[in-house]
Amino acid sequence: MKQVFCGQCFKLVDYEVVEVEKEIHFKDADVKVKIKEAKCKDCGFELDVDEITRENDLIIYDAYKEKVGLLTSKQIKNIRLKYNLTQKKFGEILGLGEKTITRLENGDVQSKAIDNLIKLCSEYSNFYKLKEGSFIDSSFITEDYEIPKLIIKMQTMNYQNNTNLKIGKWEEENEKQQVAVY
Ligand SMILES: [Zn+2]
Repeated sequence: MKQVFCGQCFKLVDYEVVEVEKEIHFKDADVKVKIKEAKCKDCGFELDVDEITRENDLIIYDAYKEKVGLLTSKQIKNIRLKYNLTQKKFGEILGLGEKTITRLENGDVQSKAIDNLIKLCSEYSNFYKLKEGSFIDSSFITEDYEIPKLIIKMQTMNYQNNTNLKIGKWEEENEKQQVAVY
């Protein structure tokens, strides 16, 4: 273990690493985390060790992401590994770029939009469509005027059924009309 400078002893010292439980305020949430602290072996003063700070940051980011329902860095990495892809290739397919994937796997907090994209891509069928570029084919998208019609119909059905809208019936109606709903 390399020595670090202790501001109290005013010299390079050996340090020990202890685990502490802390409640930390990060962004808009309080998260409970188990982080590491480096302490001077001579005087017990808390020291700055880059490596430990980085590790702690990752723990805090992930705890935050978990708390607010975003994918953790590890989960993002696991989704990528599920497809056996490099960060570069995965980033390319998702349209996010290699750097973004690297940052997210290293702890950065993603936006809700990016989170949604990655979650959708954790399902193979969605990912496959993106990979094959079949989302580029927009022929399955309905003509504009169909949409208001559908919404009105949905509202009417909802009103008629009042209690609950039966999805099965709904799908049946759509098939009849040959209109795709996404
Ligand atoms: Zn010291």
